[in-house]
Amino acid sequence: MKPDMWKICVGLGSALLLASCNSAVDDAEWAQHGRTADEQRFSPLEEINAKTVGELGLEWFHDLDTRRGQEATPIMVDGVLYVSTAWSKVVAFDAKSGEVLWQFDPEVPREWAVRGCCDVVNRGVAVEDGKVLVGTFDGRLIALDAKTGGEVWSVDTITDRDRYYTITGAPRIVKGKVLIGNGGGEFGVRGYVTAYDLDSGEQAWRFFTVPGNPDEPFENPILETAADTWTGEWWKVGGGGTVWDSMAYDEELDLLYIGVGNGSPWNPAERSPQGGDNLFLSSIVALKPDSGEYVWHYQTTPGDQWDYTATQHMILADIEIEGENRRVIMQAPKNGFFYVLDRETGEFISAEPFAPVNWADGVDPETGRPNIKPEARYHEAGVWEGTPGPLGAHNWHPMAFSPETGLVYIPSQTLGFPYIADTNFEMKELAVNLGIDLKAAGLPADQAIRDAVKDTLQGHLLAWDPVKQEERWSVPLGGPWNGGILATSGDLVFQGNRNGEFAAYDARDGSKLWSADAQTGVVAAPITYSIDGEQYVAVVAGWGGILPLLIGELSWVNDKPQVNRSRVLVYKLGGKAELPEPYQVVGTKAVAPARFGSAADVDAGAGTYARYCAGCHGDTAVSGGVLPDLRYSFALGDTDVWESILVDGSLTGNGMVAFGSELDEAQREQLRAYITHRAHESGAVKIAQEEQKGTEQ
Ligand code: CA
Repeated sequence: MKPDMWKICVGLGSALLLASCNSAVDDAEWAQHGRTADEQRFSPLEEINAKTVGELGLEWFHDLDTRRGQEATPIMVDGVLYVSTAWSKVVAFDAKSGEVLWQFDPEVPREWAVRGCCDVVNRGVAVEDGKVLVGTFDGRLIALDAKTGGEVWSVDTITDRDRYYTITGAPRIVKGKVLIGNGGGEFGVRGYVTAYDLDSGEQAWRFFTVPGNPDEPFENPILETAADTWTGEWWKVGGGGTVWDSMAYDEELDLLYIGVGNGSPWNPAERSPQGGDNLFLSSIVALKPDSGEYVWHYQTTPGDQWDYTATQHMILADIEIEGENRRVIMQAPKNGFFYVLDRETGEFISAEPFAPVNWADGVDPETGRPNIKPEARYHEAGVWEGTPGPLGAHNWHPMAFSPETGLVYIPSQTLGFPYIADTNFEMKELAVNLGIDLKAAGLPADQAIRDAVKDTLQGHLLAWDPVKQEERWSVPLGGPWNGGILATSGDLVFQGNRNGEFAAYDARDGSKLWSADAQTGVVAAPITYSIDGEQYVAVVAGWGGILPLLIGELSWVNDKPQVNRSRVLVYKLGGKAELPEPYQVVGTKAVAPARFGSAADVDAGAGTYARYCAGCHGDTAVSGGVLPDLRYSFALGDTDVWESILVDGSLTGNGMVAFGSELDEAQREQLRAYITHRAHESGAVKIAQEEQKGTEQ
């Protein structure tokens, strides 16, 4: 509840009135990213419940004008549903009818796409005092008039525009300040979070998560302490520690919590060669929201080198542990352990693995430090088959906590990764900078091995008991990269999934009670709200994000890439709307030319592809269905077209930059030779020939 609402309610007098005021004003809305500042993503609404959910039907839907990953949590305030979409666009709907009230396009330069690791997504807006706040992919924070969508103010949040900073996370608003961090940890940046005045956009404070050059003054005293945990010249590459997603706020303690990202580059030999914990990488940090002053931190992965961000969703709750009521903060970060900490002091309470973990033998209960296996330090050993891999045992997809069941619902996953140190690493302008040999880490060509790897991937809707630190129940979902979660007082848990389904489960035992066809993979988290006494459930559908972009084939369903159909879907009891028949696309696959180039050319092209192209078009040139599968590209057979794309930037408007400034003509031809080789090797040529035959008939 917003502080001003408390004032109105307190003015009404008795505790009874206060309670009813609370429910009357607040329960109907979803006014903040996690519904409440504690980010529980739990709604007290219960008209839709375990008994009635069978009557749930589509009430309205809206096709979005972007065809990229949709990761936003909508906000519903005063009968208006605010949704951000790919390319940082915003749409405001009448939340009851679906009528579009206004749309806003910040016109993010499409060539900015190369500056992001993980699709041009946006995870949501913040709404307060008649303003809608959106962070844009090119690093602006913009305040819009909530009534009209007109721009009120706009600020540049990026400290250095030569570095690859982006924004994909949702801003939070705390005590009249708008908080936003950045992405960029895969390219070489220095992380920070900034607070801006909600009224004016004026900067209030900035907290850097890693120290800068120690020969220059530290921006705040704690960074001097943090600098002792770094070695070498980390500030030259940035160090990482981006605050790209999660935050939470405790009104009573007046503490703001930020989740801090991975080391940059990943390989510590390239950023802190003599070791060290590298604070505040992969940490939860508590700050004073008025000043940005440091209060405490807890580092989940000291000296991170596996992309084990602690940016995953954080939930504040009061739970009873060993007979004592504890004010806790809970997180299930990428590294696979579920953490329960005292949120006043940062004191470690407990941590247990919620998914398969092989990089550490548990967490020491005395020190709160993980017992990291020496062999997991791949920069010394050369190779480490890590579980989890960089996509994490849990990624950004929000979890939920029900104070009624006492359970945390986690979109968990199992997918490993061969961390192989790049011994010839050089920083590049237009490529990811990880210090990892991505070509060596790619999937082998052998389809039997690819299929075997695919079989090891898992994804679950996991109900976790944070007191006992154990699984209560789980639902297997056929693979990783499933949607964020909503829990309600109707004993329900809602989640969309990779299989193109939006479903409701019994929060108590995980039995599936209802589902609908979303016609596309769902990765975003649903919300619920109530208008005129009727409860609605809304979710933004649209397959995308890093899994389908990077390891496309592993995101396929029933041996086929998914189609992104980006839509807002809104359900209520008795809803009767129907989605149109999904459109079929035929005749878009070009037959690749005959193989050309020497084995050495193809091999060199594979290296260039892994470093520059795989992050969007998929490992070993197999796409997950969001961005073009280059094995079927018409440009493969025409060097003029190929060069016009790579040198002249003829597809820049789609987000495909010209790489000609960094890749010379020989490298560009090697790349074309490699993708052509993969088109033959993987059977894509045959598929394209079959499709052409089908179109001619
Ligand atoms: Ca990362």
